[in-house]
Amino acid sequence: MSTTYDVIVIGSGPGGYVCAIKAAQLGLRTAVVEKRASHGGTCVNVGCIPSKALLHASEVFMEAGHSFAELGVDVGKPKLDLKAMLAHKDKTVEQNVKGLDFLFKKNKIDAFQGTGRIRGEGKVSVTGEDGEERELATRNIVIATGSDIAGIPGVEVDFDEKVVVSSTGALDLDKVPGRLVVVGGGIIGLELGSVWARLGAEVTVVEYLDKILGTMDGDVSKQFQRMLAKQGMTFRMGARVTAVEKAKKGARVTFEPAKGGEAETIEADAVLVATGRRPFTEGLGLEQAGVVVDERGRVEVDRHFRTSVNGIYAIGDVIAGPMLAHKAEDEGVAVAEILAGQSGHVNYGVIPSVVYTAPEVASVGRTEEELKADGVDYVAGKFPFSANGRARSMLKTDGFVKFLADKKTDRVLGVHIVGFGAGEMIHEAAVLMEFGGSSEDLGRTCHAHPTLSEAVREAALATFAKPIHL
Ligand code: FAD
Ligand code: NAD
Repeated sequence: MSTTYDVIVIGSGPGGYVCAIKAAQLGLRTAVVEKRASHGGTCVNVGCIPSKALLHASEVFMEAGHSFAELGVDVGKPKLDLKAMLAHKDKTVEQNVKGLDFLFKKNKIDAFQGTGRIRGEGKVSVTGEDGEERELATRNIVIATGSDIAGIPGVEVDFDEKVVVSSTGALDLDKVPGRLVVVGGGIIGLELGSVWARLGAEVTVVEYLDKILGTMDGDVSKQFQRMLAKQGMTFRMGARVTAVEKAKKGARVTFEPAKGGEAETIEADAVLVATGRRPFTEGLGLEQAGVVVDERGRVEVDRHFRTSVNGIYAIGDVIAGPMLAHKAEDEGVAVAEILAGQSGHVNYGVIPSVVYTAPEVASVGRTEEELKADGVDYVAGKFPFSANGRARSMLKTDGFVKFLADKKTDRVLGVHIVGFGAGEMIHEAAVLMEFGGSSEDLGRTCHAHPTLSEAVREAALATFAKPIHL
């Protein structure tokens, strides 16, 4: 007799694989269906993990050419071995994929390779590459099919992943392009643009809005743009790209002022189009199953991740909210807990966001613009890394920490950091906010000296009292 699973998860990205592991840990009979040849989804295969491998390697390359000498480490002019750098990236992905296979086995999760399709309540079919289809029975289905590149709405882009590339092609260029045009000054554009800029490309970012990292705190975004410009990146702001065309050699990008005006065309050896991602639900059979999606194609769910159909849940990039791996993971845990009869939930007010550039940008909670728009009475406290002893000793003085707290209660509402190690330091603020803490709670917590985290404490002090070292 065939097995009836407690839960079948469709998609093995950070949402799906974490959901499956947690469900199995809670004693549920669990299966995962994945159409890709390896587990881990966008994040592990063509997203978070490979991009961070290249960001790290290219940062070391840049440092070797710049700040090493000032630290008294003379390694001469560093030579790029791009092949080795890409091999490091591929190996990192492979290790993570292997790790997932091990975790699936360890937790007795059945893994099926093929495209999953919902055939009605409690039924999922899996079609393998050979076209063969098998049917699986389950009490619950979790849709975790993630997202795909969105392209530029209204503009035909022919991605050959060599000259005109999406993030996937930008992780695998076999030589450093002389001129790289990046369409979109969001996280992908700035992270992958940084990689190639550090390796020697002349990078021009063309961004529709007047600020880069549209959803980030304005202060942070402004300073960060200046830092990237100092590193050699060129920005064309308030510019809407209307055409990306391949030329005999390289490509051409045409854009016009967002407010209207004359169009301009620039030439490039490669173009990275990084204008957002869209939910991926193709081939899932949502309509036939009666699963409702919203006007942006995202699967609609309630607070308990239930879709419009009984026994079908959805998590991660395919539903509303920030398209972040850790958001997907936390939703995966919450759904598994709900299916096991527990009360899983996600605190959307405390989801950190990190841009892994140099310096890093990290934020949690609300921005100053959001507080203003909501009419919140708040206080802001700021502390620059240039006044932090450890930062000086490391030549990492660019950037600052910014605290935003409720004026009456001192409860922390948002923390924004631009600076070396921001992506690690932000969790101090996340824990504080998860516990409903105040800036005084943090300002009175002893911090080891000398650490970069002292700048976080000083920014908290600047909010409710005065910083010591400023
Ligand atoms: P995905 O990871 O997209 O996984 C979905 C999986 O479902 C895929 O493997 C897909 O093949 C499979 N699938 C789809 N349909 C079917 C079907 N019908 N049957 C079977 N399988 C199916 N986020 C961060 O938080 N930090 C980062 O540093 C970061 N860096 C990124 C860098 C890049 C270049 C990109 C593109 C994204 C990055 N992200 C990052 C975003 C992150 O990758 C996503 O938020 C995350 O992967 C979403 O997880 P998910 O499980 O919802 O979906
Ligand atoms: P994004 O939405 O962050 O940025 C896209 C940018 O393109 C926007 O600033 C937008 O104004 C601009 N744009 C759109 N159309 C344009 C046009 N015609 N001309 C000029 N500019 C245009 O999208 P992304 O950078 O592609 O990233 C996709 C998702 O992946 C994001 O949701 C992000 O959260 C996730 N991601 C996260 C990380 C991380 O957490 N470190 C890293 C990479 C990706």
